[in-house]
Amino acid sequence: MDSILTFADLGLSADILDGLLKKGFKSPTPIQAQTIPLLLNGERDIIGQAQTGTGKTAAFGLPIIERITPGLRKVQAIVLAPTRELANQVAEELESLKGKRDITILPVYGGQGMVTQLRSLKQGVDIVVGTPGRVIDHIERKTLKLNDIKFVVLDEADEMLNMGFVDDIEKILSHVPEQRRMLLFSATMPGQILSLARKFMGEYDEVKVASKQQSATNVEQIFYEIQEKDKLRALHRLIETESEFYALVFSRTRLGADRLASKLSDLGYEVEALHGDVTQVQRERILAKFKGGHATILVATDVAARGIDINNLSHVVNFDMPDSPEAYVHRIGRTGRAGKTGKAISFIAPGEWRKLQFVQQVTKTTITRGRLPYGQEVIDMKRNSMKERVFAAVEGEVSQEFYNLSEEILSSGKPKQLLASLLQLHFGGNLNPHAFPEIREPERAGGFKPNRHSLERHGAPRPATAGAGKATGYLGRKERASSTGQFASKPFFKKKKFA
Ligand code: ADP
Ligand code: MG
Repeated sequence: MDSILTFADLGLSADILDGLLKKGFKSPTPIQAQTIPLLLNGERDIIGQAQTGTGKTAAFGLPIIERITPGLRKVQAIVLAPTRELANQVAEELESLKGKRDITILPVYGGQGMVTQLRSLKQGVDIVVGTPGRVIDHIERKTLKLNDIKFVVLDEADEMLNMGFVDDIEKILSHVPEQRRMLLFSATMPGQILSLARKFMGEYDEVKVASKQQSATNVEQIFYEIQEKDKLRALHRLIETESEFYALVFSRTRLGADRLASKLSDLGYEVEALHGDVTQVQRERILAKFKGGHATILVATDVAARGIDINNLSHVVNFDMPDSPEAYVHRIGRTGRAGKTGKAISFIAPGEWRKLQFVQQVTKTTITRGRLPYGQEVIDMKRNSMKERVFAAVEGEVSQEFYNLSEEILSSGKPKQLLASLLQLHFGGNLNPHAFPEIREPERAGGFKPNRHSLERHGAPRPATAGAGKATGYLGRKERASSTGQFASKPFFKKKKFA
């Protein structure tokens, strides 16, 4: 049923449908399917709850665009968002959804040129998307008039409350006409939100898309039990063996994020770190780089990653487990977006075992235990991929000039040596298994400690429940602990956004 539902079924008009087609939206997401008809037809307020990345912007944006008067140039809808980042994103998304409608949309937030904002406001705009602080600024300067408001949207309401915007929101709402419709969107519904709703909303419909179903269908959740000190090695192996790796990697601290990014960079990856110490200018540069696929790994803290809308992530990695199940759900919601599948990987050091259990209990999902590839497997995969790429290249066109050059070089009479050097030159890196040093499974208090050989012989995965005996695992048969050659390998090709 869901899969055959179209945007046309929801009652959107032809010119909007046309725009959606161009934007590449094929069918509505669950929150869109449920919210859009209510907003197009009804008059009640709405509370919408759905995980990040489920298309909430279009869920409220499309009906607002349908229902406001084009060309009026009076603020008819105001969207409040917690950060300038998000305000910008929402404004951009609305801009791309409006199609040919004569509607102007203005993002307003602190730090952005006041003069430009004032000029635009004076010329008249139909939709304002802003952060609470700057919106209040404009209300107080009387440069933003809210008398014609038909829609107020609180986007990422939970984050706004977390960030202490409750007074600001109340203040703004007190300037908006009684007759407005209020729409509140949030990934979670803490009690504070419901009391805000009771205070400021009329009769409302509640639309809820269960996050469990969302994450279960689109995101494969895997954990690896390893020691803290082995996390980087483990990540290295995964990056090298996954067919695509365009990932957000979460670190608990700013310092941790910086260190991890610099180590990954030493390994040859295109990586950036995003955390609270990063200036706004740097932040925008980093995000642009990551969005453009010029960096393929972004190491971030929860706070810094808040609300960034990046599509097509193949992986979310919990390098450090988050403290709360909610944060976990929020993090992994960044992958498996809008119909794509993604992987959420969690590294579980001994101290993080309980966090893993807690997440599983609260989200009612089972996170599957993963086995890290052995060093030799990593090498085998690299070799195979090199071979495939070379043979694929042979199938393609090669220009005459290269044939000429090839003949000249081959005339030296050492074809094997020549090919080997060319491969090394082209792919770089390292095919030495020592580049992937052994990773031992941690010993957990209470569990028995099997010796290495017993692990190798009876290597069955253990069920993902707490305290269920000592794990068997992924000790590399062909690996030897090596203190030399640590991380000596470079990736054999630069990871591309789309492998
Ligand atoms: P949320 O606010 O729920 O976190 P967004 O509104 O930011 O999600 O949407 C996430 C991404 O999904 C955006 O890039 C958006 O363009 C895209 N998207 C939204 N709806 C659809 C759809 N129906 N089909 C395909 N992509 C969509
Ligand atoms: Mg959103």
